[in-house]
Amino acid sequence: MPPLKDLRVVRSSIDGYGVVATRAFAAGELIAEVDGVAWRDGEGVDDRYSLWIDDGLYFDMVDQTRWINHSCAPNAGLETGVSDTGAVWARIVARRPIPSGEEISYDYAFPAHLAEPCRCGSSRCRGMIIDEEELPAVTAAR
Ligand SMILES: [Zn+2]
Repeated sequence: MPPLKDLRVVRSSIDGYGVVATRAFAAGELIAEVDGVAWRDGEGVDDRYSLWIDDGLYFDMVDQTRWINHSCAPNAGLETGVSDTGAVWARIVARRPIPSGEEISYDYAFPAHLAEPCRCGSSRCRGMIIDEEELPAVTAAR
């Protein structure tokens, strides 16, 4: 597939591979439309790079956006939805101005049962990749 415009996959200081901006983005600007394949529970699809869209409905990211890392203090956000015709869509949008060369990140906000250790390095790191609203319940259970 052709590389996404204005983005490049690199080795990341956060984890594994990451995606950096090759130009500056303004706050609120669209960074990328995610190319993906929608699937449902029970279809046996590799879920490592899948986004949760709705109950039992997922979107497997099949372009470079799958390499975008999680951060607890992200510079971008993920927007998802389902169109009137039933097509799943997802896009990455800048939450603040992003200079060229900066790694793109968004908050994966995993549900508690999928939470995993976080090494994002941000001063606001929650220690786990987890939905901020589910963190108190998980830490209280330890
Ligand atoms: Zn973190």
